[in-house]
Amino acid sequence: MKYAENIVELVGDTPLVKLQHVTDGIAATVLVKLEYFNPGGSSKDRIATRIIDAAEAEGKLAPGGTIVEPTSGNTGVGLALVALQRGYRCIFVCPDKVGEDKRNVLTAYGAEVVVTPTAVAPDSPESYYSVSDRLAREIPGAFKPNQYANPNGPRSHYETTGPEIWRDTDGRITHFVAGVGTGGTITGTGRYLREVSNDTVRIIGADPEGSVYSGGTGRPYLVEGVGEDFWPDAYDPSVPHEVIEVTDAESFDMTRRLAREEGILVGGSSGMAVVAALKAAASAPADSVFVVLLPDGGRGYLGKIFNDKWLRAYGFSNAPAGHTVGNLLA
Ligand code: PMP
Repeated sequence: MKYAENIVELVGDTPLVKLQHVTDGIAATVLVKLEYFNPGGSSKDRIATRIIDAAEAEGKLAPGGTIVEPTSGNTGVGLALVALQRGYRCIFVCPDKVGEDKRNVLTAYGAEVVVTPTAVAPDSPESYYSVSDRLAREIPGAFKPNQYANPNGPRSHYETTGPEIWRDTDGRITHFVAGVGTGGTITGTGRYLREVSNDTVRIIGADPEGSVYSGGTGRPYLVEGVGEDFWPDAYDPSVPHEVIEVTDAESFDMTRRLAREEGILVGGSSGMAVVAALKAAASAPADSVFVVLLPDGGRGYLGKIFNDKWLRAYGFSNAPAGHTVGNLLA
C-alpha cells in the first residue's frame, strides 16, 4: 500500500512547470515551483515542522503548550497542521487586510484567530506584532515561533526547497526568483543554490513597491504575504544579487493572467514574483533556466484579486463589470 503516515509527511517535493503563454517574446525557460501542492496549500508548511521540532528539542514547547504567532494565514496553516498532530493549542494574530476566507481556514483547522488593524505602526500596542507579544507573555506555556527571526525558517528552505530545485533542474538552473516576506524563502533557498552552484545561480528577490527590501519606506501595498516595513532577522540581504520592485497593479494583473492563460490559480505574491522574473528574463541569454517560487494558491483571493468589483474599488480599473482587468492594467 502506498500512503503517508500522516499529513505532515506530504510537505515538500512540489512540482515545477514551464510557463507557456505569459512568457511570449522571452527566450529563456521560465519554470514555476508550485508550493500550493503542499498539504496546507503554501510554502509555509515547510517551515512549521522544522520550527516546532527545534522548539521541542530546546524545551521551549512542551505537552499542553500554546503556539502564538502573528501570521497572514499561511504560516498559521502550516503550524496548525503540525500542532494538531502533537496536541498543541494555536492562537494566530492577523492584520485586518488579510481576507476573511484565509482566516476561516485557520479556524477550520481548530486554531483561534485574533484580528488587528493594518494601518498602525509596528510599535503600536495594536499592531499584530505587539498583540502577539503580549499574548505570548501572558499565556502560560506559550511559545512564539517568530517566523521573522527564527533561523529554522530559512534553514527549512536550505534543507528542502533548494535541494529539490537543484535536483529537478539537473543543476541547470541559472536564476532563482522569489518574493520576500520574512525573507526565509529567498535566504535559505538562495544560499543553498549559490553554494551548490559555485555561486553561478543568480538570486533575485521580488518586492512590492513601497516595501523596504526594494528601497521603500514601508508605505502600504495590497499584495499579501510579501514586503515589510522593517528588516527581519530571517532575511540575509547578502543572499539576493538584486531585488526587483513590482507594483500592486502589475502583480494583480499577472496573477489573473496566470489563471486565465496558464491554468495556474495562485495568490498575488506569486503574480508579483513572475513579474519580477519576466523583467529579468527579458534580457537573459536564451539558454537561461529561471525557477520562480509561487508561494500559495489563489482560492484565498477569489473575493479580492479575482473580483473585478474589489479591484475597481481600489482604483485598479475603471472597467465596466465583466471586462478582464488583464487588458486594462497592462
Ligand atoms: N507569499 C505569501 C502568500 C506568503 O504567505 C509568504 C510568507 N509570508 C511569502 C510570499 C514570503 O515568504 P517568506 O516569508 O519566506 O519571505
